[in-house]
Amino acid sequence: MPSALSYPQKAMHKLGLVRDIDLALHLPLRYEDETRISRLCDAREGELLQIEATVTHSQVSLGARRQLLVSVDDGSDGCSLRFFTFYPAMQKALAVGARLRIRGEVRGGPMGWTMMHPSFQSAGGALPSALTPVYPTVAGLPQSYLRKAILGGLARADLSDTLAGAAAVENQRWAAWGLREALSFLHQPASDVALGALEDRSHPAWQRLKAEELLAQQLSQLQAKRGRDALQAPPLVAPFRAAAEPGLAQRLLAALPFSLTAAQQRVSAEIASDLARPVPMHRLLQGDVGSGKTVVAALAAALCIDAGWQCALMAPTEILAQQHFTKLLAWLEPLGIRTAWLTGSQKTKERRAMLALIASGEAALVVGTHAVIQDKVQFKNLALAIIDEQHRFGVAQRLALRNKMNGAPNPDVEALAVQREPHLLMMTATPIPRTLAMSYYADLEVSTLDELPPGRTPIITKLVHDSRRDQVIERIRAQIAQGRQVYWVCPLIEESAKGDAVQAHAAGGVQGRSPGRSHSESLDLANATQTHADLSAALHDAAAPVMVGLLHSRMPVAQKRAVMALFTSGQMQVLVSTTVIEVGVDVPNASLMVVEHAERFGLSQLHQLRGRVGRGAAASACVLLYSTGDAPRLGETARQRLKAMAETADGFEIARRDLEIRGPGEFLGARQSGAALLRFADLSTDLALLEWARRLAPQLLDQYPELAGRHIDRWLGGKAEYLKA
Ligand code: ADP
Ligand code: MG
Repeated sequence: MPSALSYPQKAMHKLGLVRDIDLALHLPLRYEDETRISRLCDAREGELLQIEATVTHSQVSLGARRQLLVSVDDGSDGCSLRFFTFYPAMQKALAVGARLRIRGEVRGGPMGWTMMHPSFQSAGGALPSALTPVYPTVAGLPQSYLRKAILGGLARADLSDTLAGAAAVENQRWAAWGLREALSFLHQPASDVALGALEDRSHPAWQRLKAEELLAQQLSQLQAKRGRDALQAPPLVAPFRAAAEPGLAQRLLAALPFSLTAAQQRVSAEIASDLARPVPMHRLLQGDVGSGKTVVAALAAALCIDAGWQCALMAPTEILAQQHFTKLLAWLEPLGIRTAWLTGSQKTKERRAMLALIASGEAALVVGTHAVIQDKVQFKNLALAIIDEQHRFGVAQRLALRNKMNGAPNPDVEALAVQREPHLLMMTATPIPRTLAMSYYADLEVSTLDELPPGRTPIITKLVHDSRRDQVIERIRAQIAQGRQVYWVCPLIEESAKGDAVQAHAAGGVQGRSPGRSHSESLDLANATQTHADLSAALHDAAAPVMVGLLHSRMPVAQKRAVMALFTSGQMQVLVSTTVIEVGVDVPNASLMVVEHAERFGLSQLHQLRGRVGRGAAASACVLLYSTGDAPRLGETARQRLKAMAETADGFEIARRDLEIRGPGEFLGARQSGAALLRFADLSTDLALLEWARRLAPQLLDQYPELAGRHIDRWLGGKAEYLKA
């Protein structure tokens, strides 16, 4: 930003008001009606009034608080005006006899009407004929300056039609409203308009704007998608074999101890057909916790490897990555596939060995954390990148993985000279509500696992006040006696500078806490350590020893791994953990999940935690321990979250409620970092407009590419870039 700008100009930049069109699209928050003069005798308590009246009395009172007290009379009734801050110039303007136009809220009292700090000017000027807009602004940028700038921008902006004529808007209630009419109207609505329709944005002028905005979003994503379709990726089809000889994926299937659910078969087929195409796949696999995404990923990897290429799988935490590695190793190594393992905490020697395996292509599968995308990692021929828990990664990280495809193609496979990218499979356990998927993820293909593997028993969820901990401990004893295992999760504020990781936490849980992270963190840690000690003592049984473990983020990785191994193998009965995210683990024998201070967790976190149990055949339960602290009851959003948890176990319903509670901005997290969120449209009310935009976008892009480009530029300016990842 050039430093020669004046203050208001800087403030305008801050608001993103640079181009004329930005100004034209900066719409009022609300309106004030200054078109009429009211009479005091008609006033109602609390009403915002504009009157014209004469000052009858003016005095500085020196009571408990110094104030300027002015009496006025408009001929129908009197009113006193009170000012606690005032200047000599004000006193002068409010002198006895002055005739003023005054705006303020009237309150009744024993002494008659009063207005506190009303605004005023001299009476008699022409009344505005339109409602007065009140714009979103920042400190030091007066409404009057903004209004003028916006009217100027509106007059200059190119608002020519980009919807390509009548057919596009046919049957729409707002068809008669052009962009210019709609904007002019919203900036200066006539005084007789129904304010309700403006406030709830149901007025056709608003509809027009929202439709245009949604169309811009659809167009830009469609464009990004087509951009990717123009790239090349290696088609992942198995080499020619004798008909009787099964491919790697079939051999993997045959070796699994279970058969795929119908949903797993369906999404695997969707993925396989994408992988067989010579353009990069860009697919999101969404499935509730425990729906069995890992095996779908393994099958995709098998297709890739069978075709002679390398596959990388990246997970957000060391323990998750480790778990994938162990599982995939067990599945694929017996089939002769070499798997490499990459993590930040690895010893140099081991790491070097792994890097060599990857570079030579000897390792067909690479599993790891963020370490997978580091510069030093050179693949021989990467063709498929799989990202687990994709929302935990940022745009930059996804891009880095896509850019890893620079090695030479396998000589056995047809060489490709054009710009290539690997296929990308993103997985998430946080299902995206349909409206969000339709709008923000329109550029992605989405596969959904809508079915859990058979034999799961539903998880019973109980909300328990912290004062009834003893009963919870009883429950734990009972589970242990049956040979089951138990998780106990304590909240934690993750110490992390990485935007996404913080997002995952900040978005949900730890609300209303100070940003003094390290302090809170050590408190939380102390709390977990205490809980661990308490539980160890409470569960102590000389006859049948109980092992209670502790897992927290500050532990060295080797120690974490050792604790996890004890729990996974069943030797440890109870695992107390602060590391919420690391509990993305799969221990089917665990049947009870206790979440302490559940009120501090986000809804999707709670759902994920709950998903750690109910993975085996045993009846499972999730106990959400809550505490209201010093307050008499839970805060409203915390209450809504816990209620949702108690009422439903369906990941989609949870996601829908989460969206309702948090709004799309937070829900989308990393994907939208910096990208344009919808400013005007509201997906909970504007589904019909979204559907209209979805229908029109491809037609417009095909038949009127120039108009489509202009439309995107008008609405998104430089922001469309972000959507490409
Ligand atoms: P998520 O989708 O949460 O990543 P996982 O892939 O970890 O789920 O699978 C959860 C558990 O279900 C694992 O123990 C896995 O081996 C098992 N599983 C996956 N698919 C099936 C199936 N079709 N039948 C039985 N068990 C399955
Ligand atoms: Mg998983």
